Amino acid sequence: MRWKISDIPDGGLTEELDLPVEVREGAGTDIAHVFLRVFRFGKKVVADGTVSITVSLNCSRCLKPVSYPVETKFSEEYNPAEDLDKEEEQELTDRELDLSYYSNDELDISEMIREQVLLSVPMKPLCVADCKGICPACGRDLNDGACGCKTEEVDPRLAPLSKFKELMKDRGRS
Ligand SMILES: [Zn+2]
Ligand SMILES: [Zn+2]
Repeated sequence: MRWKISDIPDGGLTEELDLPVEVREGAGTDIAHVFLRVFRFGKKVVADGTVSITVSLNCSRCLKPVSYPVETKFSEEYNPAEDLDKEEEQELTDRELDLSYYSNDELDISEMIREQVLLSVPMKPLCVADCKGICPACGRDLNDGACGCKTEEVDPRLAPLSKFKELMKDRGRS
């Protein structure tokens, strides 16, 4: 969704819109409902509002689809990118890192909205808090019950070591 900055009225504008958001590449698109206010202060533009979206994720343990509702507020300040180049050696303070830039008199909030949603989504989503995951041996969803495989929990950091041990065992046999 884009606006011409020069079209933003002095009193600001209020918009309610649906924006497709692809939170993770290849994960599919969900629709974000955005309530937005945009104000212009000279060249500076401030966009604030709320985003609500139900993000389609997959459980990080059993890979089942998980719907994760997100509702978050945002407030973002935009300055003209053209001015950034002119300023000599701009020192980046923490405050300035939160700034966004617009160019060609055009405000585009899509990337900012995507980032807001991404920040609200867990890195390792779970279908239930104690999801038992998938048996590494037979692939059975362990939430449906145990599979009877002899489960030897191998610490992934030690996996190369256990492979090495097996190799030595095989060598001993031949
Ligand atoms: Zn799960
Ligand atoms: Zn199994």
